[in-house]
Amino acid sequence: MVTVEEAKSILMNSIPAPGIARQSVISSLGFVLAEDVISKYAIPLFSQSAVDGFAICMDLKDEPLLTFPVIGELKAGDPPIKRMKPNSAIRIFTGAPVPANTYCVVMQERTILRDGIVTIEEGFIKAGSNIRVKGNQLKKGDCGLQKGIVVSPAAIGFLCSIGCTEIKVYAKPRIGILTTGNELITAGKKLKPGQIYESNQATLSAALMQSGYSVELKLKAKDKKELVKDAVKKILSACDVLIISGGISVGKYDFVKDVLTGLSVKELFYKVSQKPGKPLFVGKKGKQLIFAVPGNPAAALVCFYQYVLPALNKLSGFPDQESSTQKLKSELMFSGKGDRSLFLKAIATQEKVRILDGQDSDNLQSFAKANALVYLPKDQLTISEGEIVDVFLFPEI
Ligand code: AMP
Ligand code: MG
Repeated sequence: MVTVEEAKSILMNSIPAPGIARQSVISSLGFVLAEDVISKYAIPLFSQSAVDGFAICMDLKDEPLLTFPVIGELKAGDPPIKRMKPNSAIRIFTGAPVPANTYCVVMQERTILRDGIVTIEEGFIKAGSNIRVKGNQLKKGDCGLQKGIVVSPAAIGFLCSIGCTEIKVYAKPRIGILTTGNELITAGKKLKPGQIYESNQATLSAALMQSGYSVELKLKAKDKKELVKDAVKKILSACDVLIISGGISVGKYDFVKDVLTGLSVKELFYKVSQKPGKPLFVGKKGKQLIFAVPGNPAAALVCFYQYVLPALNKLSGFPDQESSTQKLKSELMFSGKGDRSLFLKAIATQEKVRILDGQDSDNLQSFAKANALVYLPKDQLTISEGEIVDVFLFPEI
């Protein structure tokens, strides 16, 4: 048996380098950029008006004027006019190209237009005002976004704005889930005596989806060695990561470990000194990662958040996610029993954290109310009210 800290360190040191894939910009949300994006264009693309108003061309040799004849109009999308006549104005709208010799643009609200002559309020003719200058934000050839950035909606928009249609990202792993258990029935079907409704496949799929991962293959197997083996083989032939739920404990009908060993999966560790989730197995076959999490629903999800998700994130090129852990004051005292480290379902706010009732490894109801796990290392299972504890926040919806 390994400690939580040992297990995490073994796992994170065994993650293969992320693969690189080409991805269309519009479907790259949540991927990590695998190279700097160099802009082929300046942003703004051309000098343009920032407001609806009047582009003014001054003859700087003359006395400054406040009235100008309006000699034309430019709206967004119009082709640029190279130059305008000195001491004249052009009615211009936001986003329209300003002629090269524009002195400034004055917003409409500071002007009066009568009989083709515009009069400007005093003090509003200021060199360069209300002009978004070409290349002000970004020069052609500059780095628009750096390698390592997680693509957000704004990043997608920005990439489109520099004309980019495809980027290089770190590939996301293909993931397969196998749930094992004779007793499991999908919700909606009729229960027979002794059966229960299946929840791990649903929970794990949702947790994966929430963090931006899709599931390539979902299988179910009864507790029969051959059936478990067939399902594992099927997933390993199609996926980079296999998550198995149930059948990894020491019961007579727990075949998962045997099957994995028989298929030459190399054990990284088996059994972690933690509660819930002690019978966690993590192994590798070539570059494939295999997680066998215990079937108890709360234990399965704790193992997912603590081990599977950080591994997937590293495999997908994400930077270390220290931000999901915090130190907070415990609202209540708590006295843990046993000799294993504890992960406790809890509700965290900005200042403090409250450990919930219902910590059993099969209790998903308390998990459903929680937004965090409190971690108590095995040499510090008792805490007093107000004591600082380590808190892992769940990803937000
Ligand atoms: P196991 O790890 O297979 O020994 O299962 C431990 C407990 O978790 C048993 O009570 C199972 O019925 C339950 N369990 C296993 N798999 C699931 C599942 N996919 N959904 C809900 N409960 C499960
Ligand atoms: Mg089972």
